[in-house]
Amino acid sequence: MIQVILAQPEKIEIREVRQPRPAAGEVLLKIKRIGICGSDIHAYYGKHPYIKCPIVQGHEFSAEVAELGPGVSKFKIGERVTVRPQLTCGQCYQCRHGNYHICENLKVIGCQAEGAAQEFLAVPQEIVVKLPDSINDDLGAMVEPLAVGVHAVGRLSELKGRNILILGAGPIGNLTAQAAKALGASSVMIADISDIRLEIARKCGVDIAVNNLKQDLAKEIKDRYGEAKADAIFECVGSGKTVELAINLARKGSEIIVVGVFEEKPVVDFGLIQDRELRVIGSLMYKEEDYDTAISLIESKKVQLEPLISRHFSLRQYAEAYKYIENNREKTMKVLIDV
Ligand SMILES: [Zn+2]
Ligand SMILES: [Zn+2]
Repeated sequence: MIQVILAQPEKIEIREVRQPRPAAGEVLLKIKRIGICGSDIHAYYGKHPYIKCPIVQGHEFSAEVAELGPGVSKFKIGERVTVRPQLTCGQCYQCRHGNYHICENLKVIGCQAEGAAQEFLAVPQEIVVKLPDSINDDLGAMVEPLAVGVHAVGRLSELKGRNILILGAGPIGNLTAQAAKALGASSVMIADISDIRLEIARKCGVDIAVNNLKQDLAKEIKDRYGEAKADAIFECVGSGKTVELAINLARKGSEIIVVGVFEEKPVVDFGLIQDRELRVIGSLMYKEEDYDTAISLIESKKVQLEPLISRHFSLRQYAEAYKYIENNREKTMKVLIDV
């Protein structure tokens, strides 16, 4: 079978390898669709802090069950599925306390373990998630990034009836905004410096989209939400500048959720967090229930994923896909690989 490997930064190789067999408790998956995400792009340029080459990428994907390892009874051959790509130890403090998504020994498929950029992949049955018929292969590959948004929203002390500001209208910002709205926020404002991304956010039903290069974001917030400003801010970019913006825009005593992945160490004025009694909360990936919620949001059409799909490439065109993203940074949201 064909396997695509990121051998070194910016160097993708296609190689012929033996098709894996599922071990006990594993399911062999025939990969259908793979999404390329921001963290893949960081890794492609050798700039992801926690992903090293060589690596077979692909952590957001849909697939079909091809073979069952000994002891697997929950799945049937041919069933359509996606995967929650977290390989956890089951032993550490976090795993023992239900927080396996921040397992001390966490390995993410496609990041620190072999990913889906190949025709077949064997994974433990516990992380395989069935897809309903109403969710096609494209959307099935987007359950993962939507679950990131669902989890991020769940990190708030309270969502219902609140006014939410999202900084960054890339795929994660967009999906966090949509998750916030779908799960009960009163109003969601999204800010970015790209009109293209803001237009996509509008298409997806986000209430207010602000270009913070062209408009005064602080004023927009005040106009819409009054002196209460936003009740919570999500940082979905992963840059020091955006964290600084979040801190400066935040109402005293409010919450900032950090969702973005940082290429570089951000410089942050921690004194303001103390002085304004801000609550800064991290958000990493998701848990099983976030996948369930993401799937039900897609099924019930409470979120719109199609506007995020920028282009499709074949498995052999992985390198072209990255070139395309490089040349179309601003207008690219989600590039999908058809396997
Ligand atoms: Zn991702
Ligand atoms: Zn663990």
